[in-house]
Amino acid sequence: MTEHQKVIIIGAGISGLATACYMKQKLPKVQITVLEASDRIGGKIKTIHRDGFIIECGPEGFLTRKPALTQLIKAIGLNNQLVHSGAGANYIYVNKQLRKMPKGSVMGVPTKLLPMATTSLISPFGKIRALMDLLIPHVYHGQDLSLRTFFEKRLGTEVVSNMIEPLLSGIYSGSLSDMSLEATLPQFAAIEKKHRSLILGMKSLRSPKMADTPKKSTGQFLSLSCGLQGLVERLASYPDDIKLNTPVASIQSGQVTLGNGEVLNADAIILAASPKQYGPLLDFPEAWSLTHDKRTSTATVAFAFKKEDVGAFDGNGYVVAREEGLHITACSFMNHKWAFAAPENHVLIRTYVGTADDSSIVEKSDAEIEQIALADLRTIIKLGTPLFSVITRQVDNMPQYTVNHNQRIQAFEDALTKIDGVFACGALLHGVGLPDCAATALHTAEQAATYLQAKTAIDF
Ligand SMILES: Cc1cc2nc3c(=O)[nH]c(=O)nc-3n(C[C@H](O)[C@H](O)[C@H](O)COP(=O)(O)OP(=O)(O)OC[C@H]3O[C@@H](n4cnc5c(N)ncnc54)[C@H](O)[C@@H]3O)c2cc1C
Repeated sequence: MTEHQKVIIIGAGISGLATACYMKQKLPKVQITVLEASDRIGGKIKTIHRDGFIIECGPEGFLTRKPALTQLIKAIGLNNQLVHSGAGANYIYVNKQLRKMPKGSVMGVPTKLLPMATTSLISPFGKIRALMDLLIPHVYHGQDLSLRTFFEKRLGTEVVSNMIEPLLSGIYSGSLSDMSLEATLPQFAAIEKKHRSLILGMKSLRSPKMADTPKKSTGQFLSLSCGLQGLVERLASYPDDIKLNTPVASIQSGQVTLGNGEVLNADAIILAASPKQYGPLLDFPEAWSLTHDKRTSTATVAFAFKKEDVGAFDGNGYVVAREEGLHITACSFMNHKWAFAAPENHVLIRTYVGTADDSSIVEKSDAEIEQIALADLRTIIKLGTPLFSVITRQVDNMPQYTVNHNQRIQAFEDALTKIDGVFACGALLHGVGLPDCAATALHTAEQAATYLQAKTAIDF
């Protein structure tokens, strides 16, 4: 008799909307309301369609090897929109030159000896130091470490500065000195635990028969040809109601208090808001500790160009080593990755500014950010005048998985079980990637559904 039961989900990003969808699939009769603080759905997902360009302001795609999101997309009937990324090369801008990422690098970690031996990214001394990974004893002893400590001890500082740091700090908008090995890259902790050497461990994992190995003609990401906004719009058809401009101020068991003081009752409440909201919404110390966890501010700048105004570049994009002293941290040639991103004879370039150590650029005006980003881009590849640009800021809104993140999340989740009928999901908890958000949403929906079914059994 779940038709009388009400569920409130807080936050209409991918996490909240995916949870609504999973819950409806499990308990179709439950009444689901999503409360969203802003005036739009999608959270960090936002797609702009302009003059034939499809511009992603937040995420642009998701990893094929993590299946949760692909499964969800197929379940909601969007599989005809799925598109693989192009298989173009990725570069690193280091020592004033674009250099190809050596073949076999995984998250910037070299795993093949020949490409590593021949790359111009690392000096001969740096290569010898990296090879010492074959001999060095275990670095990870079951106690969390920063990514910098782990990789520098295993592979040396040069591989970290020239390969691993530009890539990882770009992907996670974080500082390697703070980021948790266990929470961010648990696979490397597991490889080291089993094989000791990363190079040997990664080699033994490589198998031509690996099911998730992408075809050579495509990259390792998927996206939707309608833009990722299409995903959240389809998911938004599952809840019974979505109330925009409705910030939640606090949560107690069975009760949600809105910013305007109104109180709503619910049988189950699911928190899927952004990181800084956890403490204020749930007034207990473990939630506050998450609120005070590090967050960073970044911005993306998308530039639309005529093809003739863009110098030659054959890759998908590049990341920039910190030592280069540029403001931009990475640059994607979006239509090389996703053919649908720009109309014929045009190019869409997206660049990223703001780091965990210095995000002051994000506070500048649009005109200033555009000028700084364009000047940096032009030091690397010849560019004319853009047709237009789109700037998107994430202010204090990018969660950082710092050392011992998993332990803090465990403490938070243990404390949350003491608040009857309140559950949490979202990028702050078990992975920031879209597939991670979908997997966490599925788990949370299952927990909430089990709770509601048990409650029904007691009520009747
Ligand atoms: C620039 C950028 C590029 C990225 N690229 C990729 C990528 O290519 N691939 C990938 O997998 N991931 C990528 N990510 C990460 C991914 O986009 C996010 O981790 C994910 O979208 C987070 O979803 P979420 O629903 O957990 O949180 P959010 O999207 O932050 O949604 C939370 C929602 O809760 C609402 N909210 C907050 N407080 C309240 C309140 N008190 N009451 C009501 N509502 C509230 C917010 O307004 C928001 O809409 C990227 C992120 C960014 C910013």
